[in-house]
Amino acid sequence: AQVVQAEFVKSSVRTEDCPSDGLPEFALVGRSNVGKSSLLNSLVRRKRLALTSKKPDCDVSKCLLFVGKTQCINHFRINDDWYLVDLPGYGYASAPQELRTDWGKFTRDYFINRSTLVSVFLLIDASIPAKKIDLEYASWLGQNQIPMTLIFTKCDKRKKKKNGGKRPEENVSEFQELICGFFQSVPPWIMTSSVTNQGRDEILLQMAQLRNY
Ligand code: GDP
Repeated sequence: AQVVQAEFVKSSVRTEDCPSDGLPEFALVGRSNVGKSSLLNSLVRRKRLALTSKKPDCDVSKCLLFVGKTQCINHFRINDDWYLVDLPGYGYASAPQELRTDWGKFTRDYFINRSTLVSVFLLIDASIPAKKIDLEYASWLGQNQIPMTLIFTKCDKRKKKKNGGKRPEENVSEFQELICGFFQSVPPWIMTSSVTNQGRDEILLQMAQLRNY
């Protein structure tokens, strides 16, 4: 399950504009600053792949302007066989409420209507205690029966008083307990770090298994 080829294909502003070749895809999503770009880069082992997506080459007039950033659905084709999809991060503290709502509609539509979406990989920061917005996001995916894998990020970080004083493992157990109620069974989960590359191969293996399912 190695990445031998990775290519940025396009940025889309609506689900209908996404690639139509029918290849299976996995969407990475998480709160802003969760470590999504770092993880994407570590998965494809390219320093600049995700970075380039921060200035997406798309029709800006159609894009949602979100806290000064253009937010799009970015498709990366892997090994000419499947897609990794970078979705806009959520939970910018400074975002005006109405923009948050627009953003919500935009990604909700993608989750519900994108028929080639195999699973959402929801990124959760393991270095801090569970956040309400992440629990709400996970519960929405659960209620709408969107297949999900939990990716805990920054598992290399040592506990810090200002982060609640807990180890990543403790934050992970707490998060799992809190979301149990939303799912019939606990969703699959992987502990990762973009610093040590922990979990990288496990993610790629999980994606390979889900594609062949
Ligand atoms: P994004 O906003 O979700 O794309 O997050 P970034 O990938 O830009 O990362 C946000 C911050 O967290 C940066 O300062 C990264 O260096 C840091 N970071 C990301 N992943 C890790 C990780 O696995 N371990 C540690 N210790 N820091 C990380």
